[in-house]
Amino acid sequence: MNKRSITNADFAGKTVLVRVDFNVPKRGEVISDDSRIRAALPTLCLLSNGGAKVVICSHFGRPAGQVVEQMRMQPIRKRLSEILNRPVLDAGGPNGTQPAKIVSQLGAGDFALLENLRFEPGEEENDKNFSKHLASLADLFVNDAFGAAHRAHASTTGVAKHIPAYAGLLMEREITVLGRSLESSTDATVAIIGGAKVADKIQVLHHLSKKVDTILIGGGMVAAFYVAQNNQGGATVVTETDLLAAEDVLNANGAKVILPSDVLTASEFSKSSPASIWESNNVPNDELILDIGPRSSKKYAQVISLAKRIIWNGPMGVFEWPAFANGSIAVANAVAANNKATSVVGGGSTAEIIGSLNLGDKITHVSTGGGASLEFLEGKTLPGVAALIDATG
Ligand code: AMP
Repeated sequence: MNKRSITNADFAGKTVLVRVDFNVPKRGEVISDDSRIRAALPTLCLLSNGGAKVVICSHFGRPAGQVVEQMRMQPIRKRLSEILNRPVLDAGGPNGTQPAKIVSQLGAGDFALLENLRFEPGEEENDKNFSKHLASLADLFVNDAFGAAHRAHASTTGVAKHIPAYAGLLMEREITVLGRSLESSTDATVAIIGGAKVADKIQVLHHLSKKVDTILIGGGMVAAFYVAQNNQGGATVVTETDLLAAEDVLNANGAKVILPSDVLTASEFSKSSPASIWESNNVPNDELILDIGPRSSKKYAQVISLAKRIIWNGPMGVFEWPAFANGSIAVANAVAANNKATSVVGGGSTAEIIGSLNLGDKITHVSTGGGASLEFLEGKTLPGVAALIDATG
C-alpha cells in the first residue's frame, strides 16, 4: 500500500477522528447484520488501547442532508458499545457546537460517536466548512471506511485537507489484497463476473481483460455476449450499447472469455416461474436468461479449481430465487474449495452469497465495499484513498 497506515502514527494522547462504514442492514430498529461494525474493531481497539481519544463517524442510509429519525446512529452506538464492552458517548451533531463539548470530556482510550454524517448537507457536497468542522474535532484523521472510499465527501476527502490523514487497518487490508489481485503475475488468474447489467460491469471487464488469464461470464450480461457471438439472447433486452460493450470485450485480445454453454431461463421475471434448460445456441426468444446451466456450472467449477488467483464480482443468476441460485452456489463452493488459490470476492450480492453459505473463512478476502471494490477493480483511483498521506510523504 502506498499510503501511510495508522500503525505508523503517533496517536497516544491525541484525539483521532475515525471514519468508518457503519451503514449496516437494519430491519426496523434491529441491526440484522453487524459485520460492518465488527470489521472496524481492529482499528478502533488499536487506537483506544494505544491511548487515543476515539471520535467515530459514519453515514447511515440516505437521509439526503436532513434529520430522519429512523436513521439516527443510536441503535448502532448501542451495538458498538455492547461489542466493545465499553461506553460509547453520543457526540451529537454532526455539525454545531455539541460534538466539541463531548470530545473535550473524553479521556485516553474513550469512544464517542457522531450523529449520522449525512444529516448534514455539507457531507455529500464535500463542503469546505463542514470538512473544517470535522477536522476541528481531532488532531488526526483515520479513514477505515473502504465502502465509502469511492465517494468524495467531507468525511472521506475534505477533512483530510486539514489534519494528517491515515489509512485504518481495514482500509489497509482492502487496498493491499485487492491491489495484489491485480498485480501482474504468471499465476493462472481467473475473474468471474456476473450481476444484473453489462453497463455496470463493462469497465471492470475491460480492465480485467488486460490483467487476468480467463474471464467466466454469468448474470444478466450473458444475453449480450450471446448476441455478440450471433447466438440467441432470449427475451432479455440487449441494447446497442450492451452489444458493443460485449463485442469490445470479446475482441479485446486479452483474457480468454468463457460464456455459459447452457442456461436456465423462465418465461417471466418472477420467483415462481419454472426454470427450463437451454443450450447456448438454442435459447427461445420469449425466454429470459436467469442463471447459468448445470453443464456450465460444472465447467466453471473446473476452471476455478485450476486457478491460482480468483477475483469474483457479481452473481451468476438471480440467486435470490432458489430456482436460479444454483450457478452462484456452484461457483461459491468451487472458489471456497480451491484452497491453493488467493480468492478475492467483491460486491454486496456476491458477499451475501458467500455469507449465506457460511464460506467466508474459506475465502482469502471478502471485500466490505460494494461500489468501492468494483471501482477499484476497474482500475480507478478512489478519492477516499487518494486523500490519505502518501507512504513516502
Ligand atoms: P450486481 O449488484 O451488479 O452484482 O448485481 C446483482 C443482481 O444481479 C442480483 O440482484 C441478481 O438477482 C441480479 N442478476 C443476476 N443474474 C441476473 C439475470 N440473469 N437477470 C437479471 N438479473 C440478474
